[in-house]
Amino acid sequence: MDPIGNIIDLAFERRKRGPRFNGEMMQILEVSRDLICLCRGGAITAINGAGARMLGAKTTEQLIGRRLAEFLIPEYGQVLDLFLSGMASEDRGVPTRIVGLDQAVRDIELQVFRAREIATDATVVTGRDMSKEGKLAGSAHKTDTRFHLLVDNSMNLVCHVVGGSIRYVNKAGIALLGATEAEQVIGLRLEEILHPDYADLIGDIAKEGAAVPLRLLHRDGSAFDALVRLTELPAGGMGTELMVEARDITGHNRAVAALRRSSETLEMRVAARTRELAEQHARAEEMTLVAEAALRFSESLIDTIPSPVWFKDALGRVQTSNRAFRALFGDGEPKLLLPLEDTVTDAELMSGACDQASFEAPILPPSGGRLDTMVLKSAYLDDEGRPVGVIGVLTDISDRKAMERELRRLATTDSLTGAFNRRHFLAAAGTELERANRYGNPLTLLMLDVDYFKSINDAHGHGTGDDALRRLVEGLRHALRDIDVIGRLGGEEFAVLLPETGMAGALITAERLRAQVADLRLDLPDGGQLAFTVSIGIAAPRAEDGSVEAVLARADKALYRAKDEGRNRVCAEVVDPD
Ligand code: GH3
Ligand code: MG
Ligand code: MG
Repeated sequence: MDPIGNIIDLAFERRKRGPRFNGEMMQILEVSRDLICLCRGGAITAINGAGARMLGAKTTEQLIGRRLAEFLIPEYGQVLDLFLSGMASEDRGVPTRIVGLDQAVRDIELQVFRAREIATDATVVTGRDMSKEGKLAGSAHKTDTRFHLLVDNSMNLVCHVVGGSIRYVNKAGIALLGATEAEQVIGLRLEEILHPDYADLIGDIAKEGAAVPLRLLHRDGSAFDALVRLTELPAGGMGTELMVEARDITGHNRAVAALRRSSETLEMRVAARTRELAEQHARAEEMTLVAEAALRFSESLIDTIPSPVWFKDALGRVQTSNRAFRALFGDGEPKLLLPLEDTVTDAELMSGACDQASFEAPILPPSGGRLDTMVLKSAYLDDEGRPVGVIGVLTDISDRKAMERELRRLATTDSLTGAFNRRHFLAAAGTELERANRYGNPLTLLMLDVDYFKSINDAHGHGTGDDALRRLVEGLRHALRDIDVIGRLGGEEFAVLLPETGMAGALITAERLRAQVADLRLDLPDGGQLAFTVSIGIAAPRAEDGSVEAVLARADKALYRAKDEGRNRVCAEVVDPD
């Protein structure tokens, strides 16, 4: 209970009992720090000490009878007079400014209570020194003004809502709600500016105290996104008071959505790129594994190849080789039997003269022996097509070469006697004849036929006949030089070519052959021995001879003469005198 209330109650009490304000009462009022005085017709009839001090008096007596309005500065004096004279009343204190007897100016909030129970012109006046509070109030007022300026110029909507309806809206709010005048907004219910979806949430949002994204309505009914804060103001006398602040976030939302979309796109791109990189990485790893596996595979593959394989760098050093190569050469170099006419050297391959070469070459491996090989060499080119080394492969063709030799032998020799067959003898004799003609060297040809061979077969069997032919050729070989060529022309008929031998030499050789054959003895199965003879005809080539056959024909003629003349003899061709 404030002192004023006390006074009123006391006054009311007294009115019922009909007492008067007396000295005792004033003593009680001395405890108050507020001014308390009783006026009659506006003049002070009693005042407490605090009041006297406020009015700049030293004693209360100085003030008795003075009009209270006298102390007020002119602007306030008239108003107070109205109150004091009972023509106006206010249930609140009236801020006034007083000039005291001491000339000090004080802001004093006066409140006037009519005291009809005392007298019709009686009033009880209370006053509170607001000098200190007044200063505060002044600055508060300034702050308040500034605050209103701020609110009015805020970019956000600010509404003051009392009892659910809008009492105040700032300029930004008017614009935001699509109105042109404050009047179009003031008086609206708060729900009317909220999208129906949110109307029920007002209480919750206010309790929340935080800014909440909502949808607000323009005056034309269209909705927009806004960030809204409802603040419940300290309870006033007129129902719930709310301050509404709102900011249009349509643009913001649009920007956020655009940003989110672009960041989603970006995230997607980053994710895609990350995936791509991961895949690339995995692929690269896989490739490495594949490459390593391929390397192992190709290494084991070339190791499996039975042929020696190697790679020599540009300096001719063996960089890679397979097991077969190392088995043959150890860590050394492949040694070829050089020089060979058709050999292509590594240097030729490196010079780019050719990409590849293959040739047959005999090899002398460090382990000894001799291998007939086929060498395949290939220049190894870098990305720009420059040779950076040589890859080589050796194939052992010893078997093939042996077979070739055997085939050649079979094709050129008579299987029974080992002498050249007719065809090869004619070819070899043709070559010798050509050479003899070219160089003017002498050459002679013998035709040789076993005498009565038919009777040998008949008497001792075909096998013995064969033996006789073998022994004959053996004997001829012994008696002849290496350069002499023996051929079996057919049956028991042979030819011998004597290079570098003239007719005189041929006669001597033929006679020696004839004698040696006649001396031959063949052991027979029955323990007996067989002897046989040959007849020989000799001819030498002439300038007009086109072929070996012409010479052979003349030697054959001479042979027939030898037969005719009794066999086991030598006859030379008869040279015409012209
Ligand atoms: P001549 O003194 O006139 O030369 O009498 P010849 O019996 O030797 O002559 P002929 O041409 O009449 O007989 C040759 C015989 O040689 C006939 C044939 O059966 C025999 N003959 C031919 N080739 C072979 C052979 O490879 N082995 C054997 N055992 N006999 C052969
Ligand atoms: Mg014959
Ligand atoms: Mg014969």
